[in-house]
Amino acid sequence: MKVIVDQDLCIGCGACEEICPAVFHLNEVIGKSEVIDEEACEYAGCCEAAEENCPVEAITLEE
Ligand code: SF4
Repeated sequence: MKVIVDQDLCIGCGACEEICPAVFHLNEVIGKSEVIDEEACEYAGCCEAAEENCPVEAITLEE
């Protein structure tokens, strides 16, 4: 699965990291979330929840 965080939309709320820390990491220097391991979506099973809970819909998942 491909995981994309739109850096222009991300407001750095940290929800995705909280929900799915295996995949997302909030870079506190730039105040944006980064994808650290998109392969982890396969077993962590939390990417969909992160996508659904992003308040600005900055996360896109592609099969
Ligand atoms: S949930 Fe969305 S807005 Fe919040 S840090 Fe993650 S990508 Fe950015």
